[in-house]
Amino acid sequence: MSIEKKEAAELLSLDKFNVDEDEAHIVLDKSICRQCAAKPCLYVCPAVLYKLDANKEMSFDYAGCLECGTCRIMCQKKGIVKWQYPRGTFGINYRFG
Ligand code: SF4
Ligand code: SF4
Repeated sequence: MSIEKKEAAELLSLDKFNVDEDEAHIVLDKSICRQCAAKPCLYVCPAVLYKLDANKEMSFDYAGCLECGTCRIMCQKKGIVKWQYPRGTFGINYRFG
């Protein structure tokens, strides 16, 4: 049996999301993020959901979250003021683990 090798981006494209538009499951306090020099969230999120906008403000969109919890663990200054799994029926549906 041979296993076909796929790139990470290709695997991620196979996941399905049911985004909860009414309730974000991760919320940032951007005033805290401004004080965070290292900003590890920019580097550790496997879905690259943390970005800096043109004004160097933290920009985050929970819609593509893989629910891995890495940002919660790595957040240095507690700028993530809410992290919980999405409400029932919402969130990611993995197709290939
Ligand atoms: S690590 Fe936490 S506090 Fe620092 S920029 Fe990212 S979300 Fe904000
Ligand atoms: S839980 Fe994982 S995928 Fe979701 S925002 Fe945090 S690091 Fe990114």
